[in-house]
Amino acid sequence: MAASRKVGSLRLPPLPTVGELIKLYNLRAEKQLSQNFLLDLKLTDKIVRQAGSLTGAHVCEVGPGPGGLTRSILNAEAADVLVVEKDSRFIPGLKLLSEASPGRLRIVHGDILTYRMDRGFPAAISKPWEEDPPNLHIIGNLPFSVSTPLIIKWLENIADRTGPFTFGRTRLTLTFQKEVAERLTASTGSNQRSRLSIMAQYLCTVKKCFVIPGRAFVPKPEVDVGVVHFTPLVKPQIQQSFKLVEKVVRNVFQFRRKHCHKGIGMLFPEACRLELTQEMMQRADVDPVLRPTELTIPHIRALSDAYAHLCTNDPSLFSYDFREELRLKHLGRNHHTSMDAFKEM
Ligand code: SAM
Repeated sequence: MAASRKVGSLRLPPLPTVGELIKLYNLRAEKQLSQNFLLDLKLTDKIVRQAGSLTGAHVCEVGPGPGGLTRSILNAEAADVLVVEKDSRFIPGLKLLSEASPGRLRIVHGDILTYRMDRGFPAAISKPWEEDPPNLHIIGNLPFSVSTPLIIKWLENIADRTGPFTFGRTRLTLTFQKEVAERLTASTGSNQRSRLSIMAQYLCTVKKCFVIPGRAFVPKPEVDVGVVHFTPLVKPQIQQSFKLVEKVVRNVFQFRRKHCHKGIGMLFPEACRLELTQEMMQRADVDPVLRPTELTIPHIRALSDAYAHLCTNDPSLFSYDFREELRLKHLGRNHHTSMDAFKEM
């Protein structure tokens, strides 16, 4: 692999512009795949700068499309760029780019949601978790429908140190619908504070870099776009499993405008709801009348620790789902109603 190649000779030779490539290969954006392209290389350079220095770096670019962002990554002197693209129409244009940057661009025709990135790079680039991040970056301008499930999957991978994080604290620079970018970076008390804010911030330093106006894309999407940079923390701010934290946070934010004890109560079966909610709040020492958006990460940590303690006392608690209890109750009620109707016949 070319990672040790001398830098300096790594800028791309003259090539057709991205716009010309789109015309050449007739790459009309597929609405179904939410394709919106960035043709302005100044803008793609700006996204790439958010990742920090890429000199000699390994990069996985998700959804390169016609390759604007890919050119900026190559021009930033990355030594080894692996692109994962789902739409086969883009492969010939990417091959052209690969020929112009010998040995530096590898093309995978595949789906990033299932691609095994842990197999995509040599183990030798790994860095122990506690040390500086490895010289490996994930960069991408993905459709919104993919970037949100993908970041949730990657956050879980960070918690488990799997997937792209088998190499260490791999950094990510990704685009999101502006509102989602705001949720990811929202601080305590902000209107945008949500599940996503807690899940991202307990595991990473999350930085909202800048906003790209929708008009910069071709075709123009309905909304503006936010660029977000993530660096996994050496020590997650909550020491419980991802699934447990996720369950606590999901329940807390169930009723985002109500006092937080209301959502927390839904962690427990109705028969013991009052008692266990009180016990959990007391053990966590969290004011039950705070609103979900007012909870800090230390609050969520205390709540997660308290919930984990209750689950150790009664392991069946963890699989409890209030929706299931409601469903069964509803079924029971319907069953009674039809039995009553039957008796009356
Ligand atoms: N990076 C290009 C740019 O900035 O101009 C294209 C951006 S476009 C919003 C998203 C790209 O991601 C498209 O090329 C699309 O085909 C690709 N894509 C969509 N879903 C994907 C997936 N699941 N795996 C890999 N690529 C995907």
